[in-house]
Order: sequence, then structure tokens, then C-alpha cells
Amino acid sequence: MQTITEDAFAHEANEFLEANAEPRPPERHVFGEGSDEVALLQERTQAEELQAVSDAKAWAQKVFDAGFGWITGPSAFGGRELPASYQRLYSSLEARYKTAPQSCRAIGLGMVAPTILAHATRAAKDRYLRALWRGDIIACQLFSEPGAGSDLAGLQTRATRDGDEWIVNGQKVWTSGAQYSDIGEIICRTDPDLPKHKGLTGFIVDMSAPGVEVRPLRQITGGASFNEVFFTDVRVPADHLLGDVNGGWSVALTTLMNERASIGGGGGGIGLGAGSMHRLIDLATHLGRNKDPLVRQQIADAWINLQVAKYTNERALAKIRAGELPGPELSIAKLSLTENLRRLADLAAAILGERLVVDTGEWGTYAWSAFVLGVPGIRIAGGTDEVMHNIIGERVLGLPKEPWVR
Ligand SMILES: Cc1cc2nc3c(=O)[nH]c(=O)nc-3n(C[C@H](O)[C@H](O)[C@H](O)COP(=O)(O)OP(=O)(O)OC[C@H]3O[C@@H](n4cnc5c(N)ncnc54)[C@H](O)[C@@H]3O)c2cc1C
Repeated sequence: MQTITEDAFAHEANEFLEANAEPRPPERHVFGEGSDEVALLQERTQAEELQAVSDAKAWAQKVFDAGFGWITGPSAFGGRELPASYQRLYSSLEARYKTAPQSCRAIGLGMVAPTILAHATRAAKDRYLRALWRGDIIACQLFSEPGAGSDLAGLQTRATRDGDEWIVNGQKVWTSGAQYSDIGEIICRTDPDLPKHKGLTGFIVDMSAPGVEVRPLRQITGGASFNEVFFTDVRVPADHLLGDVNGGWSVALTTLMNERASIGGGGGGIGLGAGSMHRLIDLATHLGRNKDPLVRQQIADAWINLQVAKYTNERALAKIRAGELPGPELSIAKLSLTENLRRLADLAAAILGERLVVDTGEWGTYAWSAFVLGVPGIRIAGGTDEVMHNIIGERVLGLPKEPWVR
């Protein structure tokens, strides 16, 4: 464990940032100036995407080599073993500078790396943890299948043991970022005779191994941020196992808890809502719709709900900071994020009317169609609204359990 005061740490971080990045100019929202992009899912060409991934990796490597890449992580894998308050401090300092966005690393760091730390073999931890945190490699989450999403335990991709290896056959779907990922966390069925939650096993799979085929899926808005991934006789070394053979359900739960924390509780989602709110108020003012009592009512309603979500999130984050496991707040946070995005989408439609569906070339108008069309995806990703309602109903309110078809 290193000892360094927060002041000395901040001094070190500021020196690194000053030497390596340009200060970020203060944010100015002036209607009609700059980019009018408000899309929720990424809409990039392949060339733009490759550039963004390469920029993200280059910045991550600099940050890691300067000692700020994995501030809270174990030193055995390149971490600094400092408390989470140092990570928050570094993030707040870095936010003052223009640096390459790290969204392509979010699943790898937010969900896959914590699962590797908790469940992988020592050999796999040595091989992948430092590389993930340094931005040398990127990871994706290979859980959902055409017949298994909310009911994840129904998945059918098979892994069978063959000496020192496992052989994987099957299909995954909706795999975000598979197109630029180096490894994936995959859950497979290893014993079809056991009850469905008990015959599953987790593995780390090399996305460039022979037999892995990634096919992009096109979104309604034109981009392709997720994929189908096919596995045909893909060989996985036995030391790439996560947890115990047939213990994959608890491995998957580790990843899903972290997923909900990063989507709902991380604050990013709420920040996204609040940023959109300011833009919508500017838009209503510009189009003279801010005098309409119904629009004003919708603006007030969305604003109040964003504040409520912010406080619920802060409660969940305070629990995490205090070392407790966040409970149902994460389901409530995920649900309130999607409810608020729906409110903002309705507000955009009320302000814009037909401008939402017809591109007149006017700045900041038709661009909202990508936001509105992205909301259903966020309502599904990381657990659908209906599944969140079930969790809240059963675990918070103590209502009778939903009947399940087994
Ligand atoms: C933007 C985005 C990114 C994604 N990224 C990934 C990824 O990287 N890796 C990955 O593995 N997956 C990913 N997914 C997939 C996601 O996890 C699944 O879509 C999600 O779990 C829902 O599963 P499904 O699509 O099979 O829908 P289903 O589970 O078939 O659900 C269909 C409908 O039935 C409802 N329903 C299902 N069960 C119940 C129930 N018990 N009670 C009430 N209603 C119910 C659902 O709410 C939904 O409305 C992504 C999805 C999206 C939209």
C-alpha cells in the first residue's frame, strides 16, 4: 500500500496533466454553435471508430505509465492501492483537460476487469488485468443470445472439455464493441443435464481466435455499435476459466452487478440527462415554444425528476464509498434514468413537432431524432424496464414473486 497525501497526489496529477494535455475551455452552450449531436448510441463510420479507439488507448497508456491508470487496484497487477477518494480526485482534475474519450473501454473496465479480478486464475489475471487497465487491450461482454436475454440462464452456447482446452460452439448477440475488442467474457453451458442456473461456466475468450466471427448489427439510426458473434469450434485454454466449472451463474452476477452500477449509479447517465435538458430549454426558447404552458409543464416535470434521480444516485454512490454493497438503489437508478430519457424524448417531440422527423438542415432540430430513437435501446440494455420493475416489486416492496416458466 502506497502512502501519499491527497495534496501531494493532486500536485503529481496536475504536473502530469499540464505536461500532457491541453486545458479544456469552459463549456459554453450557445444555440447554433458547435456540434448539435445528441445521439445516445454511437453513430460513427468504421474509420472514425478505429481512430477513436486508437486515441483512447494512447491516452490510457500515458495515464497508466504515469501512475494514474488503476489508482485503486492491487499493486501486483499494476494498481496503486490508494483509496477510491484518490480516483475521484484524479477524475475531477482530468476533467479540466481535453483528453481522448474512454467510452470504448467502459465495458472492459466497468464489468469484465472486476470479474477477472474476482474469478480468474492467477495466470489470466497476470495476462489481462494490467493490459486492460493500461489500455493495451479492450474487452466485451458475451452474454446475450437470440433466445436468452432477460432469462440469461437459458443460454445455449456450449463449451465442452478437450484435454487442456475447452471447445466453444454457439451464437451471442447484441455484443457492444465486439468489433474492436481483443478479449471477451463469455458464459457457456457446460452441463445441459443440470438445472439451468447450475450448468453454466464463465471463460475469457480471445476474440481473434480461429472460429470467432463478428458480424455488425445496424441500428435504426444508422450506426452499428453492437454485433452478432458466432463461435465455431473455438479453443479456449483451461486457465481461461472464470470461477468454477458449472459455477458460471455467480460469475455472471458479479458482472451484472457491476453493469447496473456503471449504467444507473455511475452518474454518467444522469449527467447525460441533465446536459440534454439544458439543450432542450435552449431549443424551446429558440423556437418560441417556451411560452407554451404544456411545454413549460413538461420541462418542469423532467427537471424535477432529474433532481430526484440525482439524489437517489448519490445515495447508492455513498453506500459504495462507505464500502457497502449497493442494494436495490441500482435498479431504481437504472429505471429512473430510462424514465427520464423517455421524458426528455417526449419533450423533444413536443418542442420540435414535425422537425423531429423531417431534416430541414436547421441546426439542433432533426439531430434530436437520434436521441429519441436511442431511448428504447437504453431501456433494454443492462436489464429491461420490466425486469427492473420486477426486482423493485419483489426485493424492495416484498410483493409476491413473478411466476417463471422453467
Ligand atoms: C444498447 C444495447 C447494448 C447491449 N450490449 C450488450 C452486450 O454488450 N453484451 C450482451 O451480452 N448483451 C448486450 N445487450 C443485450 C441486453 O442485455 C438484452 O437485450 C437484454 O438483457 C434483454 O434481453 P432480450 O433482448 O433477449 O429481450 P427479452 O428478454 O426477450 O425481453 C423481451 C421483452 O419481454 C420482457 N420480459 C422479459 N422477461 C420478463 C419478465 N420476467 N417479466 C416481465 N417482462 C419480461 C422484456 O422486458 C422485454 O420487453 C445490449 C442491449 C442493448 C439494447
